Amino acid sequence: MPDGRLAIPASMRRAVLEEAGYSCAIPSCRAMTTEIAHIEPYAKVKEHAFDNLVALCPNCHTRYDVRKDIPQASHHQLQAELGCAEWAIQ
Ligand SMILES: [Zn+2]
Repeated sequence: MPDGRLAIPASMRRAVLEEAGYSCAIPSCRAMTTEIAHIEPYAKVKEHAFDNLVALCPNCHTRYDVRKDIPQASHHQLQAELGCAEWAIQ
């Protein structure tokens, strides 16, 4: 990674993508994807945690990272719908 951060472990990437069915977590989108986004920015949390990751397509990922126009609350809602809440409790 150019900024020196560690890559998301392959097993964690796969788990997030499988949980999302390899489709974007934005309900109005659902495009096929292999991209992973951090809900709380990596620069802030400085770690990769399953319950902080969500599958987003490239378009929604860019919207989220650059424009921040997807409310964070909706991400947590999405995670709950996708069943990630169970992981978060562990
Ligand atoms: Zn999308």
